[in-house]
Amino acid sequence: MHPEPATDIAIDIRDVSFAYARPGAEPLVALERVSIQVRAGERLGILGPNGGGKSTLLKLMLGLLTPQSGSISICSRSARDARRARLVGYVAQRVEAELTFPISAREAVLMAIELGTPPWTGRSRASRDLAADCLERVGAEALADRPIGSLSGGQLQRVMIARALGRRPRVLLMDEPTVGIDPSGQQRFGELVARLRAELGLTIVIVSHDVRAIAAGCDRVACLSRTLHYHDAPAGLTPAVLAEVFKHDLAAVFGDVHMDAHRAAECDAKDHAHTHGPGCTHDHHANPHASPRGDGA
Ligand code: ADP
Ligand code: MG
Repeated sequence: MHPEPATDIAIDIRDVSFAYARPGAEPLVALERVSIQVRAGERLGILGPNGGGKSTLLKLMLGLLTPQSGSISICSRSARDARRARLVGYVAQRVEAELTFPISAREAVLMAIELGTPPWTGRSRASRDLAADCLERVGAEALADRPIGSLSGGQLQRVMIARALGRRPRVLLMDEPTVGIDPSGQQRFGELVARLRAELGLTIVIVSHDVRAIAAGCDRVACLSRTLHYHDAPAGLTPAVLAEVFKHDLAAVFGDVHMDAHRAAECDAKDHAHTHGPGCTHDHHANPHASPRGDGA
């Protein structure tokens, strides 16, 4: 296994800015001076609108993009080194193309485990055992021989998480994990995330525009719309607060969530107003426009 990092900060993002070059136009600034520290074993949710820079931030954390300024360290290494050392698992936003790829769930996991090994060398016993273990951890052992194209959204997602686990990561990054997942699947997703953290000690970052994905599976929440509008205040935007703000959306997923209301009420608006920057749409007081779908639900 990997040696423990010297610090309990698993992800350290400092003052990161990133802009996409555009031919014949000004660069498009996707992220501006973003800083986030995530402790080992923490589940951080990053909530933000479409185009808010969430996927860009994950690609920076994977070392697939390089910030123009600022620094990112994952388990005390550069983002790229951490990925190459298999410290980081990644569950990409669902891609329709994957659905028609003619392989079984087991094979999809094995391919990730033996990445870089030619398939004609045959799968090792150890790889097969690890694939079985990963599928079992996500509750997908019964799906092992199913073609991935035949799986439901929730089933496919669990297999994709098993794939990411096949690299035995310390850090798991997930991009819009609840897109295309039905309500019962979303609830199972939240339970799965909690279990993975408990059993494997994973540090987990979930980015989504869907508050339900964040509320179901996170300890701490940041709000990203090019800059980070909220982070790390002790009594601020917690999943409980979100549960209150978005209770109409959540009721459709979990049923009644009023049990969280008193925790939200403890958080007096004037105590944390300074931690909310301009442009952050969350509001702890009943706000009919707070729905991320903009449908006033
Ligand atoms: P999110 O994942 O929160 O929806 P993204 O990180 O995908 O946001 O995008 C942030 C901004 O960067 C958006 O304005 C988007 O149009 C732009 N963008 C994303 N990828 C590229 C790219 N490859 N080239 C140019 N602009 C991009
Ligand atoms: Mg995205």
